[in-house]
Amino acid sequence: MRKIIITIDGFSSCGKSTLAQQLARKLNYVFIDSGAMYRAITLFFLRNHVDWNNSEEVVKALEQINLDFHYNLETGKSEMVMNGEDVEYLIRDMLVAEKVSEVAAVKEVREFAVKEQRKMGKKKGIVMDGRDIGTTVFPKAELKIFMVADPVIRVERRYREMLEKNPNVLLEEVKDNLQMRDYIDSNREFSPLRQAKDAFVLDNSKLTTEEQLKIALKLAKEKIATVEEAI
Ligand code: C5P
Repeated sequence: MRKIIITIDGFSSCGKSTLAQQLARKLNYVFIDSGAMYRAITLFFLRNHVDWNNSEEVVKALEQINLDFHYNLETGKSEMVMNGEDVEYLIRDMLVAEKVSEVAAVKEVREFAVKEQRKMGKKKGIVMDGRDIGTTVFPKAELKIFMVADPVIRVERRYREMLEKNPNVLLEEVKDNLQMRDYIDSNREFSPLRQAKDAFVLDNSKLTTEEQLKIALKLAKEKIATVEEAI
């Protein structure tokens, strides 16, 4: 069977990763959470006191970063590994969330991440979620999905997620962080968050994860069939 590239873009906490992961599992594709890569780079910068406004420092730091995904057989999820260390838990912390959009707006950081992401998609058979995957990373992807959801629902979802890790987290704090990241992601100079013209818009405000998976799976199977026919 011919494999395709599926991109899932959208604002923070629209449920992109959940869908991408489930879709990849169903199709036996590789799931890639591009946001995890920007989060890992941010963690590295914070730990090593890298000033991301200084491009020389940024370039030097990026040379020391090696990013990889490992599949955890126990949880059935893929985890971010940076320089051999599993950083999946740490990159979900509020400290990283507070700075990640600033770091992700830096030109050299984007060039580094996009290059890695394209390498991962060379053999196709991937589902990658992020902000600029359908527009910049894989503008020729066979299937592009742009996810949207009611802002109130998005805040609630992320709040519940963060609460599991930190019982002291405040709803307002989560809301402010989402708004700030959406703003920076949409207004940055290099590959801002945009809906690709040929993307299918999926509003999951009132959908269960099973329902959204069903829709996406149907779209994917149709695309794969079209690609097969074209051979
Ligand atoms: O997807 P997630 O919320 O984990 O992404 C964290 C941050 O990484 C986003 O807020 C955004 O600033 C950045 N990002 C990006 N481009 C992507 C994926 C994520 O700029 N393709």
